[in-house]
Amino acid sequence: MPYFSLALLPSPTSAAARDDLPAPAPVTGQGEVTVIGLGPAGPRWLTPEVGRALREAEHLVGYGPYVDRVPVRPGQERHTSGNQVETERAAHALDLALGGARVVVVSSGDPGVFAMASAVYEVATAEPRFAGVPVRVLPGLTAAQAAASRIGAPLGHDFAILSLSDRLKPWPVIESRLAAASAADLVLALYNPASASRRWQVGAAKDVLLRHRDPKTPVVVARDVGRPGEKLTVVSLGDLDPETVDMKCLLIIGSSTTQVSTRGDESVVVWTPRTYPA
Ligand code: SAH
Repeated sequence: MPYFSLALLPSPTSAAARDDLPAPAPVTGQGEVTVIGLGPAGPRWLTPEVGRALREAEHLVGYGPYVDRVPVRPGQERHTSGNQVETERAAHALDLALGGARVVVVSSGDPGVFAMASAVYEVATAEPRFAGVPVRVLPGLTAAQAAASRIGAPLGHDFAILSLSDRLKPWPVIESRLAAASAADLVLALYNPASASRRWQVGAAKDVLLRHRDPKTPVVVARDVGRPGEKLTVVSLGDLDPETVDMKCLLIIGSSTTQVSTRGDESVVVWTPRTYPA
């Protein structure tokens, strides 16, 4: 039995499928939750569709620093909370929508990548009272894409995205995924590599990676991409110093084919060829 019928999805010729229009808003007066991502930094990486959803929102719900990135609009209510209360925040957004409000839940980057879209669906599907509340997810640019573009094209071939945070999953799971992905010679983009309280994880990840990867493998430490203080550093895996990594960084670990080249202006680029040796 399929989970859904294709007939229930918007047809490719409907307005929802056209490039120039955002996904359809619900009938006026009906509440809805729209989960958006602001991109990794600044307005230039925020999509026009997300900009429109933010302008039309009656309520903004999200982690304080993310909501603070959205310009204040008169008449729009802002509900900010700490970053460890995702399901409460999702329930709050769904409750507001149940009462008829147009609610935008704010994430950074893409809302479906280690962000609020899953939390909203978790609550929306668990609680029968939310069954009829429309939920839309609008895509955003995720940090790995922005970081990769700043240093060249390290994600040009197969890659995997993993979070190093053991706050929501046990460390042994992270360790086994790191081992499997590095044994498969995938380029890795590692989100949430460290924080003020998670200090040993990068060193432990490095040990796992070195079991499968050459110590000369290029690593990009991408800090604050697109923001003031942006810094991208290229080091070898063997030389990666965990002390230089915090929650504002994303790590890209090269595969066996990832190249580091110096251009005519002395800039260093990291790129992974499209072809793979037979
Ligand atoms: N939903 C977000 C990810 C949230 S997890 C997205 O799609 O991008 C938070 C992690 O994302 C951070 O710890 C860091 O690893 C990464 N990150 C987000 N923005 C970043 C930026 N501007 N520069 C470097 N890393 C960033």
